[in-house]
Amino acid sequence: MTKKTKQPTLDFKTDWAYAPALEDTKHINLKKQYDLFIDGKFVKPNSKKHFATYNPATEEKIAEIAEANEKDVDKAVKAARKAFDKWSKISAKERGKYIYRIARLIQERAREFAVIETMDGGKPIRESRDIDIPLAANHFFYYAGWADKLEYAFPDRTPKSLGVAGQIIPWNFPLLMAAWKIAPALATGNTVVLKPAETTSLTALKLADLIQDSGLPDGVVNIITGAGHTGAAIVNHPDINKIAFTGSTDVGKMIQKAIAGTDKKLTLELGGKAANIIFDDAPLDQAVEGIVNGIFFNQGHVCCAGSRLFVQENVADIVIRKLKDRMETLVVGNPMDKNTDIGAINSKEQLLKINNYLKIGKAEGADIYQSSCGIPSKGYFCKPTLFLNASQSHRVVQEEIFGPVLTIQTFRTIEEVIEKANNIPYGLSAGVWTDKGSKIFNLTSKLRAGVVWANTYNKFDPTSPFGGYKESGFGREGGLHGLMPYVRL
Ligand code: ADP
Repeated sequence: MTKKTKQPTLDFKTDWAYAPALEDTKHINLKKQYDLFIDGKFVKPNSKKHFATYNPATEEKIAEIAEANEKDVDKAVKAARKAFDKWSKISAKERGKYIYRIARLIQERAREFAVIETMDGGKPIRESRDIDIPLAANHFFYYAGWADKLEYAFPDRTPKSLGVAGQIIPWNFPLLMAAWKIAPALATGNTVVLKPAETTSLTALKLADLIQDSGLPDGVVNIITGAGHTGAAIVNHPDINKIAFTGSTDVGKMIQKAIAGTDKKLTLELGGKAANIIFDDAPLDQAVEGIVNGIFFNQGHVCCAGSRLFVQENVADIVIRKLKDRMETLVVGNPMDKNTDIGAINSKEQLLKINNYLKIGKAEGADIYQSSCGIPSKGYFCKPTLFLNASQSHRVVQEEIFGPVLTIQTFRTIEEVIEKANNIPYGLSAGVWTDKGSKIFNLTSKLRAGVVWANTYNKFDPTSPFGGYKESGFGREGGLHGLMPYVRL
């Protein structure tokens, strides 16, 4: 029998300030105010406006970020257009060298990037350090390799660069999403205007610093900051050839409408509500570990999070017991502490949204279960949560919560679980846990999801394409497929 391990109770009101922050932040060199990175230089925004970015774990202001308006966007697009003439003509090998240099510089400064990512976004330092930043460097390495091999990527075709790519990214993996977008665009000879999300602009701005140091020609990458208004100005700019967007399904739909009738190319990576399916023949302890990682990684701020657990009826009791026991051992709190498993919710707005879903789930009649851990009194935190006895029609089952909240449903037959897993507006990812290879093959062909993990979850690699079906968007990022949206054949 698994022994229940209680988390030590801390009086967060008094101990929080003195809690051992294993990663010191004093050496991190942050400016008080950040401007826009256009044409290789940091320039004041035409809007003359800046907004604050906060540490969601402490609610303290970290820095001020420039708000770009239409004129700023136009300036960035003009710089990117001018740079495109040269960038698309230099030798592919030379382009690759710059991208390799960016990759190496990220590795050199990995620690600084990791600490800033955690300060600005709230994710545990262990995740920033071991996953986000190394993967971001790996994406640049991977696409640097393709730069002078495009004729092998597209045999018997002549790939042509598109021009200026407008790229809009979300707040859950800030540097990593910047890498996913910028690396393939540069490898294929395009130039970029990228906008990070308003709550997490700092690592993209640090990347701008690094790009300056890399000697990349001016204007090839422009990084401008702001919220939805700035994003819309990028989408609507007439001299942009391609929009790559990762974010909510609602904004994705607006973008699709906005560019309808133009010749802009579009890729959308939107929301998800993945089924993570456990069969009775699965190695249950391993599966429970995968379920925990699937939903609680990055506080559940993951579009491919395994947020719907389907467990075969005859093992449901034991799986739920093991899951609850494991949840008790999860450490929720200071993201800077290397022992933390679940950090801060990215923003106050997101915490309100998650808490609202907790109310909705209860009102709909699902049974709520939360870990008994304490949470800090300051900052935005949410306890790991289960909704037991959830049913297919519940809003908490159908809608993306984007937080550490898992719904649990049971099933008897394989047909039933396929039907339930697919009966959702989204189709980004799924997970299957079973001892039988035949079941894995059967399910991977029937689940309408861009990525299906078998006996593992949330595994990312620059060589694998990632993207969705249905309301999860279209187009693929990563791998050879990730080059396709940036070329005309
Ligand atoms: P979330 O709801 O999770 O914050 P969003 O889709 O709103 O996700 O945000 C993802 C990115 O899209 C952010 O960079 C945000 O600033 C940007 N954005 C928001 N609204 C618009 C819009 N109307 N047009 C273009 N980009 C937008």
